[in-house]
Amino acid sequence: MENQLPPAWQNVLTQLKTWARVNSPWAIHYNSGSCNGCDIEILATLTPRYDLERFGVKLQGSPRHSDILICTGPVTRQSRERLLRIYEQMPEPKFVVAVGSCGLSGGAFQGCYNIVGSIDEVLPVDAYIPGCPPRPEAIIHGLVALLQNLQGVKKSPQAAAGQPAKV
Ligand code: SF4
Repeated sequence: MENQLPPAWQNVLTQLKTWARVNSPWAIHYNSGSCNGCDIEILATLTPRYDLERFGVKLQGSPRHSDILICTGPVTRQSRERLLRIYEQMPEPKFVVAVGSCGLSGGAFQGCYNIVGSIDEVLPVDAYIPGCPPRPEAIIHGLVALLQNLQGVKKSPQAAAGQPAKV
């Protein structure tokens, strides 16, 4: 249907979708093996004190309705398949944010028998938020930087190619 529109209308439609996505992104949160420290900080960003929703970000329970996957912790052998399944269920374009040192590099869990590795060893990551755990301000900063990056850009070339990209 969209392809049947004249090019000018397709352009307007694309701009409208980008505007809606940037102003009201829905996010799903997944713990792929974290100690819960990062997860508590993510929840803190949603409280009225830090108020992440003022940027339009809404935490969503279903991957089928989510634009952004916020992932914490290293990826364990047990959670790898679930993480991939969640990612595959998300509609395009989709974006991945890795939160915390463990998600970025394996952190404190590096080399453990049950660890596959960092999140970008399993999925293309669009934004990295370092820290152990990162403060709510850092998480908000990372998400806002990702949203600014999305304005006019559907997906970073590196992420589209399946390679990690830093925001
Ligand atoms: S980065 Fe720190 S707080 Fe986050 S999962 Fe790793 S050890 Fe826990």
